[in-house]
Amino acid sequence: MKFIDEYRRSELASALVARIRRRSAGSARLMEFCGGHTFSIMKNGIRQLLPPSIDMVSGPGCPVCVTDNADLDKAIALAGIPNVVLTTFGDMLKVPGSRSSLQEAKAEGADIRMVYSTLDALQIARENPSKSVVFLGVGFETTAPTIAASILQAERDGAGNYYVLSLHKLCPPVIRALLDSGEVKLHGLICPGHVSAVIGSRPWEFIADEYGIPCVVTGFEPLDVLQSVDMLLDQIEKGESGVEIGYRRGVRPEGNQRALDVMYEVFEPCSARWRGLGTVADSGLKLRSRFERFDAEAAFEFDPGPTLEPEGCVCGDILRGVKTPRDCRLFGSVCTPADPVGPCMVSSEGSCAAHYLYGDSGE
Ligand code: SF4
Repeated sequence: MKFIDEYRRSELASALVARIRRRSAGSARLMEFCGGHTFSIMKNGIRQLLPPSIDMVSGPGCPVCVTDNADLDKAIALAGIPNVVLTTFGDMLKVPGSRSSLQEAKAEGADIRMVYSTLDALQIARENPSKSVVFLGVGFETTAPTIAASILQAERDGAGNYYVLSLHKLCPPVIRALLDSGEVKLHGLICPGHVSAVIGSRPWEFIADEYGIPCVVTGFEPLDVLQSVDMLLDQIEKGESGVEIGYRRGVRPEGNQRALDVMYEVFEPCSARWRGLGTVADSGLKLRSRFERFDAEAAFEFDPGPTLEPEGCVCGDILRGVKTPRDCRLFGSVCTPADPVGPCMVSSEGSCAAHYLYGDSGE
């Protein structure tokens, strides 16, 4: 398939691996921020191809995983309000909150509907004028523009029954928080491709400039990931730190200005809670005052109850890069994709799910 097969060619992968092996004189700890990269690394056996001197660490780049239980509890509580239809992407349904999940709430009678886009949610609002339709806005800069566009559309339509629970997160501020914590020492960072398609590569420059850590923005095919490792090692060997784009087919330094304009027309930065990282300033998005009438938190009264964390789950540590899924005593026994205890086992970008599906005893 054009634009995919050429990024999976085994002879090119072998050549890149050989070059990486020749390069890696010293040890290097590289973080892949994005859960999509974690899946690519695990699925394609990239860990096993790399020399042992290269330590690949997963980061907090899974929007489902980093959604704090307190916020998920809000969504579940909202869904319990009579006449409310909660719409969500499917990956949030099975995530356990403090006492329940959206899937369990749906089984108990809450009107929760899986949608594939915000257009579906808007259509449900149009078809059900007597109901209040709430879209659960979970995602990074990749999805926030589409949700902003749905609010602009709802405004144009004069929709009075469409709301968004905005749990969106911004990625650069959380990387700063992670680096400032000093918990994890990194020699290089693989920056997320899809997020960077929107924000560009420039918002990552502070990592190279202020922390001296080389960065490469890359895509999700095996050759993309191997090339990004090679590019990072090249910078490390030369003692340089900059931001390079290895994903030129998707990312420009300036990003997608139209998407950013739509996002910031509707949203403005605010503090946000991240699972495992706590509250990070300016790392979330809230609706601007002009759009307050679409804000589900302002429109409804609800009590999500006290927040409880799943006992024994170390998702928070995994998202900070200080533990791996195999450090969790529940991994693969009590916690599996069929019966997940924490979000990292649910999400299609979760580290635990990636290790469960594609890991082996040689990890
Ligand atoms: Fe949490 Fe399950 Fe991962 Fe353990 S294996 S950290 S319980 S999601």
